[in-house]
Amino acid sequence: MTYDVINPATEKVIRTISLASEAETDAAIDRAAKAFETWRDVTPADRGRLLRRFADAVDADLENLAALEVENAGHTIGNARWEAGNVRDVLTYYSAAPERLFGKQIPVAGGIDVTFQEPLGVVGVIVPWNFPMPIAGWGFAPALAAGNTVVLKPAELTPLTALRLAELALEAGLPPGVFEVVPGKGTVVGNRFVTHSAVRKIVFTGSTTVGKQIMAGCADQVKRVTLELGGKSANIVFADADLEKAAAQAPYGVFDNAGQDCCARSRILVERSAYDRFLELLEPAVKNFRVGDPADPATEMGPLISAGQREQVASYVENAAFQGTAPSGPGFWFPPTVLAPASDRALREEIFGPVVAVVPFADEADALRIANDSEYGLSGSIWTRDVGRALRVSRGVEAGNLSVNSNSSVRYSTPFGGYKQSGLGRELGPDALAAFTETKNIFISTED
Ligand code: NAD
Repeated sequence: MTYDVINPATEKVIRTISLASEAETDAAIDRAAKAFETWRDVTPADRGRLLRRFADAVDADLENLAALEVENAGHTIGNARWEAGNVRDVLTYYSAAPERLFGKQIPVAGGIDVTFQEPLGVVGVIVPWNFPMPIAGWGFAPALAAGNTVVLKPAELTPLTALRLAELALEAGLPPGVFEVVPGKGTVVGNRFVTHSAVRKIVFTGSTTVGKQIMAGCADQVKRVTLELGGKSANIVFADADLEKAAAQAPYGVFDNAGQDCCARSRILVERSAYDRFLELLEPAVKNFRVGDPADPATEMGPLISAGQREQVASYVENAAFQGTAPSGPGFWFPPTVLAPASDRALREEIFGPVVAVVPFADEADALRIANDSEYGLSGSIWTRDVGRALRVSRGVEAGNLSVNSNSSVRYSTPFGGYKQSGLGRELGPDALAAFTETKNIFISTED
């Protein structure tokens, strides 16, 4: 079975790829299981060295990977370079891990007690279409560092960079089978990762609906699972904030990657006394947001991923307060859009497009009530000059990744993940490694 990969900025077919069948998926899992038998015993220093070489290969190929993502996902060239660089950095970061996966020595009576962090086996990584490169790397880099082998399924719409990363892994010297990329349908390849007993853990990033199915499927074998799901994050702006800066930055917090970002701050909550002024400042920032050819370095936002996604996004937009511009003609374009007021549906559901709702609030308690009135809890921002309030409100928001006077959500060295229905477990940073190992405890008697 084949699949036509489309450039979302031109609607032209850029490549036709084959989609793996269930039997081909099984063969890839078997290769990864076989490779695990030797990969787990590669010395920590050599495993680290191979991951650094993989990182170097990504770095040497950075412009090519970025160009592929511009073409396949419509990402702006600036973002795509950052994304390829993020894979390099995550690999480099975890290349130091094999020699630092320490166990413990625990004081007990009658002997010595030690723990070991052992790899799980084959890890299945299932990736969505919105950030194909970084999300793949957040799964495979720590998994490989901890001594696992990986089967990775890219999204049907965006398989090209993952296929290239598999070539680069081999060029860097990773043994065949250690990193297998299996393009195909979620219901075939992804489902097989979940049901195949040799796959010991699933790292899934995608919609909350599919995430729940994956979790239920994993229950059958008590398979380990990490879930990174949807979001409806709040950008909370207090009247004492630098309003000019908050309004200038807000579009980047939600329109980046055309809003197809699980961390998109798609609800801007503004203290009532500053609400009108904030909208006045936001309007030119939105209208001047540069939407167009993603290969042009000046472009700030490219197209949506597909016609279906555009239709879905459009269904949330009635009576926009104001909109930016978008090209006409071929390509799945949608203008940056501000809803004020917004419908209950637009306030609750993940729109996954360049649409933001602006909502007034009365005081801190009201801001927290609105921010937490969501089934999601992934990220968010607080804009204020009052450091006490910044901390109070950050601690009060039910979300995994918060930033103060900033839009940032992701750093490879710090934990990333969601509260509530935004996910389960954490990726990135040192803590993620524990999720790719089992702890083994051994007691050695010292008695005669
Ligand atoms: P999706 O859930 O439709 O698909 C994600 C992946 O799962 C794809 O590779 C798909 O083929 C596969 N899949 C689909 N059905 C499957 C099944 N039954 N069994 C196994 N695999 C299956 O999501 P999407 O539309 O590709 O991505 C958008 C979603 O991802 C949004 O909800 C977004 O918020 C979320 N996301 C979350 C994060 C995060 O880190 N929290 C990051 C990026 C995207």
